[in-house]
Amino acid sequence: MVKRITILGSTGSIGTQALQVLKVLGEKFEVISLSAGHNISLLTEQIKTFHPKNVCVQNIEDAKILREKFNKINVVYGDSGLEEICSDRTNDIILVAVSGKVGLKPTLTAIKNGINIALANKETLVMAGDIVMKEAARAKADIIPVDSEHSAIHQCLTNKKFVRKLIITASGGPFLHTDIEKMKNASVEQALAHPRWSMGKKITIDSATLMNKGLEIIEAHHLFNVDYKDIKTVIHPQSVIHSAIEYIDGSIIAQLGLPSMHIPIQYAICYPERIAGIKTNSFDFAKIGCLTFEEPDFKKFPLLKLAEKCGMEGGTYTTCLNAAGEEAVFAFLNGKISLGSISDIVQEMVNNHYNNNISQPVLDDIFETDRIVREQTQKLINNKYIK
Ligand code: MG
Repeated sequence: MVKRITILGSTGSIGTQALQVLKVLGEKFEVISLSAGHNISLLTEQIKTFHPKNVCVQNIEDAKILREKFNKINVVYGDSGLEEICSDRTNDIILVAVSGKVGLKPTLTAIKNGINIALANKETLVMAGDIVMKEAARAKADIIPVDSEHSAIHQCLTNKKFVRKLIITASGGPFLHTDIEKMKNASVEQALAHPRWSMGKKITIDSATLMNKGLEIIEAHHLFNVDYKDIKTVIHPQSVIHSAIEYIDGSIIAQLGLPSMHIPIQYAICYPERIAGIKTNSFDFAKIGCLTFEEPDFKKFPLLKLAEKCGMEGGTYTTCLNAAGEEAVFAFLNGKISLGSISDIVQEMVNNHYNNNISQPVLDDIFETDRIVREQTQKLINNKYIK
């Protein structure tokens, strides 16, 4: 049977790798829709290769260009365009591979339409995990994680009833053993040089501060319905064990592989089947030789603990964390603040959230919190943290 798929964020890091996987999988999949931001030349190439029925771009100007080029394709744009392609029930699965808060709305639309999700956008669950998971259960839509750690846990999860804890591995990023003061003043280029994974810019910076691992703890809590106290992080620089589950009888099941996003992407879109698709480098235990592990340094990477605390507090705390984090990372990438300021800014915004937390937020509360926190974070950056 042909599986019909849509990719949101087709020109990004996960999107392009997903299309590499789909190229190998050939006729097993039919691409229904592609959405992209502004990379129209790459999107044009993708349209010629994969012949989607619909394409969504961010603005009307780009939509007009594509309509002239491809008169047989339905070209839509903006939020309403995303809404349209995510409501299309001919889809079997939608891969959400956009980065940041823009993932939330279209993911919810797809879920409400009972369409299964391959989720690469962790912000969706960090911002509104309770709402998203509840909606998915109601509409009977599966959410299959693409994040390598959560893909590992999904694969190791043989029986939910007997889980004692989740063990999430972290490579430690480019500054694992760098002096803390040096790390705080690292350049954008140094922070983007991740030793193991090739990813988009936002997530690579989050990996350098270990904020990414904090967001992944929140993501894991929602995906697998496990208490925060039962989710542990361990630093594992080789990134061969992608995460593990400890069962109540003391058995630990881990998922291993060389660090390549092709594998979790392929797993998520093919699930529940496994298909021998894209070729990966052969895995050789003897060549790897040794795997090492260490405790995370919470002093050097305070965002890891802070994210966990926000998760435990619940309500709109994680929405605040996410919004402040995104704004701080954008400011760093734009050369406005130092790397070390990111954690100070996020910490300050989370502290300020104390009187504004909404314990049982509805979706409007989430978007309103997101908007206000972003505004306030930008102000804080300009008043206090700008270099
Ligand atoms: Mg990950």
